[in-house]
This record gives sequence, C-alpha cells and structure tokens, in this order.
Amino acid sequence: MSSGEPLVYIDGRFVPKSEARISVYDHGFLYGDGVFEGIRAYNGVVFKLKEHIDRLYDSAKVLMIDIPMKKDEMIEAVLETIRRNGFKDCYIRLLVTRGVGDLGLDPRRCSNPSVIIIAEPLKPLLGKKAISVIISSIKRDRVDATSHQAKSLNYLNSILAKLEAINAGADDAILLDDRGFVSEATAANLFIVKEGKVATPPQTTGILPGITRGCVMEIVRRLGYPMEEREITPFELLTADEAFLTGTGYEIVPISEVNGRKLKEAPGPITKKVIEEFEKLKGDPENGVKVW
Ligand code: PMP
Repeated sequence: MSSGEPLVYIDGRFVPKSEARISVYDHGFLYGDGVFEGIRAYNGVVFKLKEHIDRLYDSAKVLMIDIPMKKDEMIEAVLETIRRNGFKDCYIRLLVTRGVGDLGLDPRRCSNPSVIIIAEPLKPLLGKKAISVIISSIKRDRVDATSHQAKSLNYLNSILAKLEAINAGADDAILLDDRGFVSEATAANLFIVKEGKVATPPQTTGILPGITRGCVMEIVRRLGYPMEEREITPFELLTADEAFLTGTGYEIVPISEVNGRKLKEAPGPITKKVIEEFEKLKGDPENGVKVW
C-alpha cells in the first residue's frame, strides 16, 4: 500500500479511496442499473473467485450489460487490486455499472459500462454470536419481477425489510415469497434444521443462489445429514430446532429467535458442525484462487 489508504480499481486505473469517484450521470447511481459481487479472500486465497465471476457475468447477461473484459481479465483485475493493497484477508466489492448516460433511463444512451473493484481489509471473525430475526411484511421480489437471482445494484427490496427489522429491534429480517413461503434474509440465505434434517428454500422463492449456500449444502451432505432444497413455511421456521444464515459477508450465523420465538439451540449441534467444516475450506487453494 503506497499512500496509506486503500487503492480502488476504476476502469483500469488505481486511485486512492478518497479520490475514487464515478459520475452522478452513471445509471448505476441514477437507477441502480448495474450488477455486483461481494467476495472474500482468506489468507491470500480468493474464496470461490471463479464462481463469483461466473455469477457476475450471468447477472450482467440478464441486464444486457456487456462487460468490457473477458472473465480471465476480470479475475486478474481482482487479484491485482488485492496485490496492490497487500491484503491477505479482505472483502472485495466488484461492481459493473451501466455507465454514464443521460437523465432518461434508456440504457442505449450509456455506451461504456464501468468496472469498479474495492478491497477492504478484514480480520477473520471467529465465534460470531447468534442473531434475532423477524419475518418481514415485505415480500421477496418474484422470479418474474426484479428477481434477486440476478445480483443487481437495486437492493431496495432488502433495505425495506432491513428497516423493518431495525424498527422492531431485531438483527435481521427473513422475507417470504409472494405465496408466503420462506425465501431468504436481506443479504444471506437461510437454512433450517428439524429432527436431524436440513432444509433450504429453492430458487423458485426468489433467492439469490448463494455461493456460501452451495458450499454449505455440500458440507451437510458430506456430514451425512439429509439435505433438502424445498419450500419452507413460516410455521416450519418458527418451530425449527436450529436455523442459520449463510453468505459471503455473514459466513454462517446462527439464528436464536424468530418473531420472539426462541429456537431450541443457537448454535445447535448441526450448525456447529457445519461452521467447523466451513472454517476448514477458508484459505485452502482448492477452494479459490491464490493472490500471489
Ligand atoms: N442473498 C442475497 C440477497 C445476498 O445479497 C447474498 C450476499 N451476496 C446472499 C444471499 C448470499 O450469497 P453468497 O453466499 O454468494 O454471498
């Protein structure tokens, strides 16, 4: 790190954080018109980087944003951002915005998408405490609306639910889909455990198919527990033995109560085993891309 503050990648240039700016005419700012990824590096290995890059390009395809770099160039830009900052453990925010246009929303007026890569140092947080959640009155956007399957810059659906949680004195909110089935948390996927069986909602409920969720499903199967991807009712969530959230930022966070109903244990025995196994994946070059 040269100037003492993190360097941010903007369209091929590295600029200090305090000088990292984009235009107010960028449609990412004006309309939330863009896509992003939240990624983590553990001990010099960028966890599941290829999977994050694949998801970024899939999200961009849905929004018809033509990312001006090939996937391997994007991977190299992420690695170079981390190298320039000298971080071994960090959080990486990778954004592709529609780019500068005019005040109308027509995307054809934006000729050049912008690529932005932010890296911030992170200390590994061990032994995270269990959190309380509410079931939000805000419904997850439908898969045929602004689906969270595409990781876009528009997070208002989640922000409204988060505000409801904050106003209720809870740590986070669980959103239901428009039919009333459990979908996911504001920025994390949900798992429940009942009588030794693990379940997580399917993509039809409007979730972002989380990369951590995929790892956890594999871990659960490897540990020998039944792992179901199926619709979950609010009743099942309220009466679960254990429940936890998964995500790049959250990692694995146990849920202690839902709408004031305490779950049996947080973290319960299966949650503990899953956390233990997840810890082993971090920093392992088999599960990511080495920075140096
Ligand atoms: N759902 C939403 C809405 C999210 O924003 C996130 C965080 N990216 C997740 C789930 C978890 O996904 P991942 O494990 O890939 O970080």
